[in-house]
Amino acid sequence: MSDRKRVVIIGGGLGGMYAAVKLRKAPVDITLIDKTNHQLYQAMLYQVAVGMLSPGQVAPSLRSMLRHQPNARVMLGTVTHIHPISREVVLARPDGPEEVIRYDTLIFAPGVRTDYFGHDAYARSVATLKTIDDAVWLRSRILSSLEIAELEDDPHEVEKWTTFAIVGAGPTGVEVAGAIAQLTRSVVHHDFRKFDPARTRIVLIDAAPHVLGPFAPKLRDAALKALREQGVEVLLETRVTDVSSGSLKLLREDGTTQMLEARTILWAAGMRSTAVADDLVTSTGALTDRYGRIHVDDHCRIPGHPEIFVIGDAANQGDLPMVAQPAMQEGKHVGKTILAELGLGKDPGPFKYFNKGTMAQIGRGNAVADAFGVVKLSGFPGSVLWAVLHAWYVEGLFAKVEVTARWLWSLVAVNRRERVITVKSAALGDRPLPTTPHSRKG
Ligand SMILES: Cc1cc2nc3c(=O)[nH]c(=O)nc-3n(C[C@H](O)[C@H](O)[C@H](O)COP(=O)(O)OP(=O)(O)OC[C@H]3O[C@@H](n4cnc5c(N)ncnc54)[C@H](O)[C@@H]3O)c2cc1C
Repeated sequence: MSDRKRVVIIGGGLGGMYAAVKLRKAPVDITLIDKTNHQLYQAMLYQVAVGMLSPGQVAPSLRSMLRHQPNARVMLGTVTHIHPISREVVLARPDGPEEVIRYDTLIFAPGVRTDYFGHDAYARSVATLKTIDDAVWLRSRILSSLEIAELEDDPHEVEKWTTFAIVGAGPTGVEVAGAIAQLTRSVVHHDFRKFDPARTRIVLIDAAPHVLGPFAPKLRDAALKALREQGVEVLLETRVTDVSSGSLKLLREDGTTQMLEARTILWAAGMRSTAVADDLVTSTGALTDRYGRIHVDDHCRIPGHPEIFVIGDAANQGDLPMVAQPAMQEGKHVGKTILAELGLGKDPGPFKYFNKGTMAQIGRGNAVADAFGVVKLSGFPGSVLWAVLHAWYVEGLFAKVEVTARWLWSLVAVNRRERVITVKSAALGDRPLPTTPHSRKG
């Protein structure tokens, strides 16, 4: 048996992959485990949901990313348990059997999952946007709804099929609202005969008094104005108090209630810790924040467990937001720390975050972008900055050029090629929920 250090990484997202790549020359054996075979650029997922990009363009294969790194292997499976005392990870293979993998160092980076704020039953009635499956299902749902509206004679039914409700006016909700507005107003508006897609209702709902909570007030105002100009109805200070298939109950700040009928409801309202993170909290006694994120020390470790690093969305590192930059920077930092432990580099010291900024796209050629917390751009200049930075995240020069070219092309031509609905994919009923190894066991 090799006496090299065994580094197990749970999650091949931004955090996990940055850590793996930082260790590419280290004399360690890396096992990267993920329940999917790809990394996912979640920021671009909404573009799959509206037919701008295909799934493969936002989800490179983990194996191909690590193909030139002989010290790393990839395993497909869902981690269900971690045993910190025996230093073992239990992995459920997609075909059923379990495997036990031993580690000396664990890098825990499983991200987060959708939070329904105690109403998990909503999951069946709403779309979410967290995985490729979610984006493809939402795309089918949007396109199928327009098709049904064309078949329907009853105007009330047409209205229900062409009302899209989006719960949560953070970056995901805002981007999806803008993209559906663009799709219906500028892409498919000449494609139907019986109804006018441009009259589609897009309703964006949030309990907060403004859209894009974490952004500067100037950018929030610019985003709200841009959404309204695109015909998006923005309902602020409005709580969703009930959801069922095809309708939402809303409670306004002034105490009035309203029923909204919408065949497509996107839930973009909250995130919380994954089941495997909750399991790790139980077995280590780690402390968590209100999202279930694990509080880590300034080296991204669980206090009392120097062999376990937690990074990315799963970690609370100085209250940083759940966005890409902390995950990538923490992944790199953990890689450097492990190299230093092996005597292969300088100890990077405590983790320090470098804020490169936040941004959101609001339809065609329009975005708000806060670069480095200093440069605040909206409209077309914001959109250019958005495109450059997002293409930068994509792996490989060819893919970067392709994503940039697609964005440039979208400015001049508004066609959306990724508009296939197959017989099986026509998403008209409730959303099928993914089967996890936990739910399989009952
Ligand atoms: C729709 C959307 C839009 C976003 N837009 C932006 C944006 O514009 N800008 C920005 O900065 N951030 C954005 N984010 C947030 C950003 O994508 C995340 O902060 C970032 O991906 C976190 O990286 P991570 O490595 O912690 O987790 P992830 O990238 O989520 O990776 C986690 C990985 O762990 C795997 N995994 C989970 N559980 C298990 C398990 N039990 N066993 C095995 N594998 C498991 C998952 O399959 C996944 O591959 C967005 C997020 C979403 C959902």
